[in-house]
Formats: sequence, C-alpha cells, structure tokens
Amino acid sequence: MPSKFDPEEIRRKAEELESASLSEVLSWAWEAFGTRAAIGTSFQGAGLVVMNEAFSNGLNFPVFTIDTGLLFPETLDLKASVEKRFGITIEPLVPEQTLEEQAAELGPELWNTKPDLCCSLRKVIPLQKKLSTLDVWITGVRRQQNDAREKTKIVELYHFDVLRDLYIVKLNPMAAWSRDEVQDYIKKHDLPVNALTARGYRSIGCQPCTRPTASGENERAGRWTGFDKSECGIHTFLGSNI
Ligand code: SF4
Repeated sequence: MPSKFDPEEIRRKAEELESASLSEVLSWAWEAFGTRAAIGTSFQGAGLVVMNEAFSNGLNFPVFTIDTGLLFPETLDLKASVEKRFGITIEPLVPEQTLEEQAAELGPELWNTKPDLCCSLRKVIPLQKKLSTLDVWITGVRRQQNDAREKTKIVELYHFDVLRDLYIVKLNPMAAWSRDEVQDYIKKHDLPVNALTARGYRSIGCQPCTRPTASGENERAGRWTGFDKSECGIHTFLGSNI
C-alpha cells in the first residue's frame, strides 16, 4: 500500500521542479521515496533516457513494463538488451486473462471490436494493481507526443484511492524534451533501441494496434488506426492532476 505523504508538500515541490533538469527530478524522487518510486517503461526512447540517467547516477529505481502478450518480438528483444545493459530485471505486469481466455469470454481479437475494453483489461488494470503498491510512478511522457499530452506537468499528483485517501505522484521528467533531443541523447550514450524504429515506427505498442508513421503525422498517429482513440488509458484513468 502507498505511504501517506503530504499532498501540500508535493504541490509545493511540483512548482519548484517544473523547470528542473531530468537528473534533478530523478534525484529528488530517489531521495524522497527510494524504491517506492518506480520507472514504468514501454521502451520508447524517452524511457531509455530516464533509465540511463537514473542508473548511471546510482538511482536504482525498480522498473516495470506492461506485457499485454501482444508486444512485438523486437520490443521483447529490446527489453532483454536493456536488462543486460543496466544489469537489472524488469518486472512484467501481465493481464489476469491469457489471450485465449479473453477470446473465449469476450470474442476473438478484442482489439478489433472493443479496443478500449482490451486496453483496460490488458494494460490499465495491471497498472492500477502495480500503482497501488507505489508512491511514485516515473514515466517517459513528453508534451510533444500528441495533443492529449501537451499539458503534462513534470510532477503531477492524483487522488489514486479516494476511499483510503491515498495519492500517487506521477513523475514525467521527460515532459519538455523533444523527439530530436531524445534521439541525440540515445546516440550520444549508445543506448539500445527498438529495431522497428528503423522501419518507420515512432511510437510502438501492441502489434495489432501499431503501424509505421509517415513524416508529417504526429508520433502517436500509428496507434489504433481506424479508431477514434489515441491513448490506451494508462495516462488518463487517474483523472485530473490535483
Ligand atoms: S493496444 Fe491493442 S492489443 Fe494492446 S491492449 Fe490495447 S487494444 Fe489490446
């Protein structure tokens, strides 16, 4: 269960850190919360930057990823490369149902019929369970990724469990970074990348819901083509930043 921290103190700190550097934000999280802060990654470029910056400075946050069972083999290869590079084990958050169980109960290829439900079952609920054990969730969200993310703050506070009056801090230390800045950092530090990037994929999620994007499209335009959907729900289910 998350510890009870003072929301007022977090709000004050949020103002102070809004213009802080990546390393300053991560150092604060480590000093204030230690391993009750964890990095959640889907192995996009920004997440790789966060991990490199943390681990090269001795900030040994736990890391988790949501493994829907529908990730590209290239993404799973990258997970193995990242674990080797940093000498860590990344915790996979898995849905309650296997794909077969889901298909038997809700029909085959739920992503083609009810993608919101599919994302909820395979991503949001596993994440909710994980967050209920943490104080801080560290993400790689960037404002530039799409319209829905342009108001992202570096430090956000959510009333995670209203009944138990528990909060979670969502830390978005990459919020102000551009895609070019991320790519430059990755090259400079020779970080492993998803092999799909060279084939035109700029935002990489589950196989059935991801396609390469053309120049001129926003980074997340290759997700859920054919549906009025640009977010899986993991960055929206918490409601409003308070
Ligand atoms: S991204 Fe697609 S396949 Fe993955 S959980 Fe969401 S709807 Fe299902």
